[in-house]
Amino acid sequence: MTAEQISEIKSLLANPRTISIIPHRNPDGDALGSTLALKLYLEQLGHTVHLISPNLYPDFLSWLPHQEEIILFCEQQQKATQCLQDSSMVFTLDFNDLSRTGEAMQQVLADLDTTFVMIDHHQAPADYARFTYSDVNCSSTCEMVFNFLEFLGDTHLITEDMATCLYTGIMTDTGSFRFSSTTSRTHKIIARLIDAGANNTAIHNAIYDSSSSNRMQLLGVALSNMKILPAYKTAYISLSQEELDQNNFKKGDTEGFVNYGLAIKGIIFAAIFIENKEENIVKISLRSKGDFDVNQIARKHFQGGGHINAAGGKSDLPLSETLEKFEQLLPQLTHE
Ligand code: 5GP
Ligand code: MN
Repeated sequence: MTAEQISEIKSLLANPRTISIIPHRNPDGDALGSTLALKLYLEQLGHTVHLISPNLYPDFLSWLPHQEEIILFCEQQQKATQCLQDSSMVFTLDFNDLSRTGEAMQQVLADLDTTFVMIDHHQAPADYARFTYSDVNCSSTCEMVFNFLEFLGDTHLITEDMATCLYTGIMTDTGSFRFSSTTSRTHKIIARLIDAGANNTAIHNAIYDSSSSNRMQLLGVALSNMKILPAYKTAYISLSQEELDQNNFKKGDTEGFVNYGLAIKGIIFAAIFIENKEENIVKISLRSKGDFDVNQIARKHFQGGGHINAAGGKSDLPLSETLEKFEQLLPQLTHE
């Protein structure tokens, strides 16, 4: 952000306002951690802050401090719309286009007469915000929220709860500090968050060591369904609705499954295809190593996007046809 933008935002925040903060639909650890931390910060400044999520977050995040204050747009559309209309500033975090909030919420947001601030690390940010803080090289939106507080000279206001939220988002978006987006700066920020009260072991336990037995059984199904195609340095997993139902699938249960493909020697491209009969789509996650760009693949072929090494999208074809399409695309994708 430029010094001018920072001082403009500072003066906007100088008097108490009503402010809304929004993560993307199906919020992950980074989206939820960053929005909660920003809410706690803005409340310390004396603002009235609404955190409005398009829909529910997975169970493995339901321990995050202050998550009970989140308003779900899908469940309380009228109240959420009123909060948004009352807000003279709206922060949108961890997404790059209003469409990432879902159709109904996107419509409400597009009609607002408010000052939008975007803080996000995804490729190709859309141009809807009065202030856009976009950094595609940053590990996570949580790291950017820390930077944002630093720009405003307020890192001393980071409480234990804020540190816990920010730590969670950085940990989940960096695959526990191992993806290439992890820098020495990331670790310096993490050190500051631990000093501010984030309990690294407790957070790791709450996120990674709190699975249900059903989730572990489903992982077993996913791994036995994995197809490995060494010629294309690719491994992919599929899960049908029937397999999900048999294992009592809950939102968030498949988080992280796609990464197992990349654990195989020589594999640089991993994908997972998850049938969703309710929405009549196949949800797709793509992961890669090095400069193999899955963001482009998600954009071009699967109505999605994301980052170079982590992207997502969907298919409107049945699961089997989606897998056929993917296999047919592979020679072209991996040799472009
Ligand atoms: P995941 O595979 O974990 O759902 O998402 C990986 C990355 O891709 C995240 O940064 C997420 O924001 C992005 N992503 C996932 N699904 C979609 C989608 O449908 N559209 C777009 N534009 N990005 C997505
Ligand atoms: Mn993120």
